[in-house]
Amino acid sequence: MPPSHSTPLHDVVIIGAGASGLCAARHLLTTDPSLSILLLEALPHVGGRVHTATLSSPSLQSDIRVDLGAEFIHGSTTLINELVRENGWPTVEVFTAAQGDGGPDDAPTSDLSMYGVYFLNESKTLLRYDSDDADFVKMNEAFWSLSTLDPADIPSSLSIADHFQQSKISTRMTGMSNAGYSNTSGCSSLHELSLKRTVEYERHWKDHDGCCNDDGGDCRLSPPLAMSDVIDHVAADVDVRKNCRTNTKVLKVDYAEDTINIETSSDPGRLVQTKKVVVTVPVRIMIDGDIEFNPPLPAEKIEALSLYGMEDALKLFLVFRTRVWPEKVQNCIIADAPIPEMWFRSTPATSDAPSVHICCCFATAKFADSLKALKEPDATTAALKLLADMFDRTIDLNRQELLHSHMVCWSDVESVRGGYSFPRVGITRESVETIAAPLASKVFFAGEATHAGAAMTVHAAMETGIRAAEEVLKTLQPTQN
Ligand SMILES: Cc1cc2nc3c(=O)[nH]c(=O)nc-3n(C[C@H](O)[C@H](O)[C@H](O)COP(=O)(O)OP(=O)(O)OC[C@H]3O[C@@H](n4cnc5c(N)ncnc54)[C@H](O)[C@@H]3O)c2cc1C
Repeated sequence: MPPSHSTPLHDVVIIGAGASGLCAARHLLTTDPSLSILLLEALPHVGGRVHTATLSSPSLQSDIRVDLGAEFIHGSTTLINELVRENGWPTVEVFTAAQGDGGPDDAPTSDLSMYGVYFLNESKTLLRYDSDDADFVKMNEAFWSLSTLDPADIPSSLSIADHFQQSKISTRMTGMSNAGYSNTSGCSSLHELSLKRTVEYERHWKDHDGCCNDDGGDCRLSPPLAMSDVIDHVAADVDVRKNCRTNTKVLKVDYAEDTINIETSSDPGRLVQTKKVVVTVPVRIMIDGDIEFNPPLPAEKIEALSLYGMEDALKLFLVFRTRVWPEKVQNCIIADAPIPEMWFRSTPATSDAPSVHICCCFATAKFADSLKALKEPDATTAALKLLADMFDRTIDLNRQELLHSHMVCWSDVESVRGGYSFPRVGITRESVETIAAPLASKVFFAGEATHAGAAMTVHAAMETGIRAAEEVLKTLQPTQN
C-alpha cells in the first residue's frame, strides 16, 4: 500500500548525520537561518564514523574515552584545525608511522620525542624509524617519492604495486608495505590501490602539511578530549535535537516530481517531503543499493561508485596496568603478522586513579577479516604475543598487566558497513566528480568519497558537506532578472 500521510515541506533533507551531513546542515543554517532543515540518521547517535566511546569496567578505576572510528587530525590547514584553534583545544603531536612517514630523514615528534618502530615478524627484526636498513630505506623513499610524481603523467591502470616494482623494492619489505600502506589505505594489497589517485592524495597532504600546533606531523586532541568533541561542537550549531531524527533509515528517495518524497524505516506510512536532498551515506551503502532512487541513479554514477573499495576496519583496544612497550615508542607497523599496526598512549595519574596504558591495534580489509574471525579473546592473545616478541617480554607477563580489552568492527555497523573508501585501480578525479554530481538540481551528494582532493578523512568529509550545501544554496536562490 502506498504511504498515505505526508509531513510539512522542508527546504533541505540531509541523509546521514556524520561529519559531512552535519557540516552541510551547519553551512546551510549559518548562511540562511530561515531554512527548514532535517537530518535523517539511521544510527541512534550523530557523528557516523566519528564515535567516541567510554570504556568502563570493574577492572578500570576510572572511565577511559576512546575513538572507535576517526582519531587523528591530519594536516594543519583544514576546517578541523580551524575549530581546534578557535576553541583553544589542546592537542598532542603524534608520530605517523604509516604511509611513508618515518625513515632515516624523519624526526621524532618535536615536543615529546616520541617515535615509531617497524617489526619484521618472520625474522623477528625490530627497526627504529631511523634505521639504515637498506631495504627499509628504499621502501620509505618509494613512498616519499609518490608526492613528487605528476598525476597527469600516470595512467589510471597503474597500481602502487607497479610503482614499487619500478622502484625495485625488496620483496623482504612486501609485508611491511602492506602493513604500513595498504592497511592504512583500507585495502589488502598495493595491487588494488590506484597509483594516480594516491599520488593526488599525497599531494593533497603535502598542501595541508604540518600540524595544528605548528610543530609538524599529525596530531590528536589531548585526551580526555576526543574526535567526537569536534562533531558535538558542529552538532550544537545545528541544534540536532530539533533538526535531526536519529534511528531513522532512509529507504527510498523519489525525486520524479518537484517535491521530493522520502520514505523511512521509522514511519513507513509517512513521507518526508522536501525541495532538496543531500545524500551523505558511505560508498558501501550506495553500492549495496540500500536506498532506492526514483528515477534510478544514472549508470555512470553507479559505475564510478564501484571504482571505490570499502572494506572492514577494526580496532582492538587493550588497557594495561603498566606500560608493556618502551616509553618513547608511540606506534609500530608490523609486517607478516595478524595485526599490522598498533599505537600507544598513557593516561595521566590522578588523585582518584593511577595511570593506565592503552594499546590500539588497527586493522583493515583482509587483516580485519582475519582478526574478526579470531574473535576478541584470540585476537587479544595475538596482540599480547606480538607485544612480547617486539619488546622482549612474555605473553604471560603481558597478560598479567592487561586490565581490559574492547574490539569494534565497522563492518558490523549496519548503516556504515566498513571503514573508509579507498581508490581502486581505474578511478580518476572525473569518476569522483561523477559521484558528486547533483541530479536534476534536486539530489546532491556529499561524504568522504566525493572529495576531489583526498577521501578517507573527517576533514575531507566536512569539506564535502560545505561544497554540497553551496550547490544547494545556488539552486534555492530565486532567479535574478
Ligand atoms: C576505524 C576508523 C578510523 C578512522 N581514522 C581516521 C582518522 O584518524 N582521521 C580521519 O580524519 N579520518 C579517519 N577515519 C575516516 C573518517 O572517520 C571518515 O572519513 C569520515 O568520518 C566520514 O564522514 P562521512 O560524513 O562521509 O560519513 P559517515 O560518518 O559514515 O556518515 C554517514 C552517515 O550516514 C548514515 N546512513 C547510512 N545509511 C543511511 C540511511 N539509509 N538512512 C539514514 N542514514 C544513513 C550512517 O549511519 C552515517 O552516520 C577513520 C574511519 C574509521 C572507520
